[in-house]
Amino acid sequence: MGTIQIFLTIVIFVSFLTFIVSAAGLIGYAVNSLFRKLGLPSRRFTYPVFKILTTMILLSTLLFFFASFSAEDLDQFTAEEELEEVVADTELSQKVKKEEQNDKKPSATSTKSKEKEIPKEKEQAKQAKEQRRSDGPLTVHFIDVGQGDAMLLKTKEKAILLDAGDWRGQEVVSYLRREGIDTLDLVVGSHEHADHIGQMPQVLNEYKVKEVWLTGNQTTSQLFENLLQTILEKDIAYHEPRAGEHYQIGDMQIEVLHPEQLTGDLNNDSLVLKLTYGTVSFLFTGDAERQAEDRMLQGAQNLEATILKIGHHGSDTSTTPSFLQAVNPEVAIISVGANNAYGHPSQSVIDLLHQQGIDLYATKSHGHIKVITDGKDYHITTDKSESLKAGKVSAEERLATSSPAPRSSRETSHSISKEVRSRDNCIDLNRATAEELERIIHIGPVRAEEIVLTRPFQSVDDLISINGIGSERLADIKAEGKACVK
Ligand SMILES: [Zn+2]
Ligand SMILES: [Zn+2]
Repeated sequence: MGTIQIFLTIVIFVSFLTFIVSAAGLIGYAVNSLFRKLGLPSRRFTYPVFKILTTMILLSTLLFFFASFSAEDLDQFTAEEELEEVVADTELSQKVKKEEQNDKKPSATSTKSKEKEIPKEKEQAKQAKEQRRSDGPLTVHFIDVGQGDAMLLKTKEKAILLDAGDWRGQEVVSYLRREGIDTLDLVVGSHEHADHIGQMPQVLNEYKVKEVWLTGNQTTSQLFENLLQTILEKDIAYHEPRAGEHYQIGDMQIEVLHPEQLTGDLNNDSLVLKLTYGTVSFLFTGDAERQAEDRMLQGAQNLEATILKIGHHGSDTSTTPSFLQAVNPEVAIISVGANNAYGHPSQSVIDLLHQQGIDLYATKSHGHIKVITDGKDYHITTDKSESLKAGKVSAEERLATSSPAPRSSRETSHSISKEVRSRDNCIDLNRATAEELERIIHIGPVRAEEIVLTRPFQSVDDLISINGIGSERLADIKAEGKACVK
C-alpha cells in the first residue's frame, strides 16, 4: 500500500469521526433547546455552538467524499485500468510509479526460487491478482521473421505486438491473421532499425491499432517516414515511453526499464520492457547493447525475469555476464535469421548461456516459439527443433549466398586506387539520395533504393545487410572510399 493510499485512508477515517462527533453534538444541542423551551433543566448550549457543529459536519462530509473518490481512482490505476486512461500521465499516476519503484529492491544475486523470497504482503497481493485474472492464459509468440524481431503478446482480451520483423518480409501480417487478430491494443517499435519496424506500416494498415510506442529517435529512412505517415494518417495514439513508467493492459503488467533519456544511438536507446503475468515475467531488450545494459544495472529497477529475449540477436555486443546475472532467467530466446551477414548469434553468448544452465531457444533453429503461461507455470512449444550453432559464416559461405559479382566489377576491384577521401566529400549512406548512392561501386538503382529504405547504418560495414553485397564487394566499397557514415 502506497503512502498516498495510507494518507487518504486516514483522511477518510478522521472526517468520518468528525462527522459522527459533530452530529452527536448537534443532536445534543437540539435536545437542549427543546428542554429549554419546555422549561426543563438543561445545559447552556448557545447559538455559536450550533454554527461550529454544522460547519464541522459540512466540512467533514466534503472531505470524506473527496478522499474516497481519490482512493477509488488510485485503486483503479493500480488494478484494472485501461491503457488509454493510464497513458494520460497525471500527477497522481507519476506518484504511484515512484512509489512502486521504491518497493522494488535490486536483486542481482538472487536464486531461481522466487516464491520463497517474496515477502508475505507481496505474496498476498499476488494471490489477489491471480484470482482476478480472468483474461485467460497468456501466450508470448516469438515469431520467426528471419534476421529481425517480432513478438506477439496475447491474452483472451488483449493483444500487443513488439516489433514487426524485417522490411523485406510479410510474415508478421500473415502470422497475426492466422492467430485471428483484428485489433492490437498496442504496437511497440523497440527502435528504428529496419529489422524491427520493417513490417510495421503494413501492420498499421491491416489491423485496428489503438496505440503505437516508439523511442522518439528520428532516422532518414523511407521506412521510418512511411511509419510516421501511417500513424498520422490513421490518427493512432502515440507515446514515447521512458524508464520508470508502468502500465496495466488487461492482466499484463508492463514496466519500462529503458531508456531514461535518448542518446541518439539507436540500438542503445532500445525500449526495454518487462512483462509480468502473475509470477512469470519476460524481459524484452530490443537491440540494447552493453552500454544500455550497464545503465539498467545502475538503476534501481528489478531486472529479474523468468524469460529473457536476448539483446541484439545474440550479438557479442550484448548480454554481458553481469546483466545476465541480474536478469537470472530460466529460459533465453534469441530472434535471429539463419546465415545472416552479421554472424549472429555469437558463440561467446551461446557458451555463456550454457554455462549458466539457461535453456536456450532461437527462431533460426526452432522456428516460431510460443511460451504459454497461466501466471504460475509456463510451457514452451516450437515449430521445429535443431541444436543452435553460432552464426559465424565463412567468407566463402557468405559469397555463395549473395549473387555472384559481374566480371567487370571484379576486374575494377583490382584497379581501384587506394585513395581515401576526406569525410567531407564522401557519400553519406544515411543522407545521400539514391542517385548519389549509385556513384558508389557495386551500387545500382536497386541497392541504392534498399539503402534509402533501410538506413541508418552505424558504419560502412553494415552494407553487408544489403542484398548481394558480400564481404568481397564490401571490401571494394571500402577501398574505393566514397561511402561513409557521418
Ligand atoms: Zn536488430
Ligand atoms: Zn538495431
